[in-house]
Amino acid sequence: MSKNFVCALDYGHGKNVFPPSKGVYKNGKGYHEYDFNSDVGEQIRHILEGHGVKVLVTQPPHGNDVGLDHRTDLANREKADLFASIHANAGVPDAQGACAFAWESFHDANKCADLVVKYLKEQGIDLHGNGRHYSQLGAWTNFHVLRETDMSAILIEHGFMTNDHDFENIFGSNKEDYRRKCAIADAKAILDYFNITYKPEYQTANKGELSMSEYSELKDLINKQNQEIDELKDQLADKMDTTSAMNDPSDTHADAWDWLIGEGITNGATPLHFITREQTGTMLKRYNENNEYLPNWMYDSIVDQFSGIAPYLQKPDEWKIKLNNHQVAVPELLGVFMLGFLNKENTDKVSTEVE
Ligand SMILES: [Zn+2]
Repeated sequence: MSKNFVCALDYGHGKNVFPPSKGVYKNGKGYHEYDFNSDVGEQIRHILEGHGVKVLVTQPPHGNDVGLDHRTDLANREKADLFASIHANAGVPDAQGACAFAWESFHDANKCADLVVKYLKEQGIDLHGNGRHYSQLGAWTNFHVLRETDMSAILIEHGFMTNDHDFENIFGSNKEDYRRKCAIADAKAILDYFNITYKPEYQTANKGELSMSEYSELKDLINKQNQEIDELKDQLADKMDTTSAMNDPSDTHADAWDWLIGEGITNGATPLHFITREQTGTMLKRYNENNEYLPNWMYDSIVDQFSGIAPYLQKPDEWKIKLNNHQVAVPELLGVFMLGFLNKENTDKVSTEVE
């Protein structure tokens, strides 16, 4: 069984250091370096762990800044095999491209930094010069995390936040693709350094491209959704049957319904549905246009119902006699009933408001 490698991943800086440092302003908006470092770092961690590498995160992603001593002490105490610090650079506006640092006298660390440059190039990422820098005492490259670590240590600057071109990659419209490529390059270098064969299925997906695990997850989801759709279709079919059952009038009203259809007042659809006021109006208008008087059976049924509406009529007794004698013309009857409805509505409204 191969050795279980431990890689300390150091996501440069915390969220509480910018402003003033470790970030840039563009068009009045602040961009934090830690945001880039954390994103790339977490993608590297995902790939490395997929290959069985134990990852030790020395600076929590998107958390407050952890001191440099704490980071190197943790890696030393846990005997990490490699320490990789993830950053984005700042400098003069012209300075551009990515680069990898290692302590100049540490052979293995430089071997790893060379691999980083090799894979950055493979991913098409621009380099700063030839992409390699060597840390030493008394120089600006005297980095704590490279000097105070017991194991091989590298520090990678993934382009300059202060350069317009690099900014687009680090924080701008191209960031998703660029950050992913950075993570793949770094992870490949680290795996190569550990002599572990790189397997692409652990990398995060390209835009519009699914990893195998995402693909099977999506397939499961689609199957599940299809089952739910089938169930809903069954439910809908049951409901449709209910609707067709509702398409016959009840026995009591079958004669009247046939008459309405025969007179061209209704098309006969959905006899058991509620009717709106405007539909009532249209039906009454259609009848009024074709007839001067109501048919006898309708007079009889209106007289039956009369007691309900009588309290709202101005002269109920007079109307009852007229209806009994079938002496009422259609427009006149409609007028009386409209008056009755209006009176009733006003009465109901008053009583509701009192309650
Ligand atoms: Zn940094």
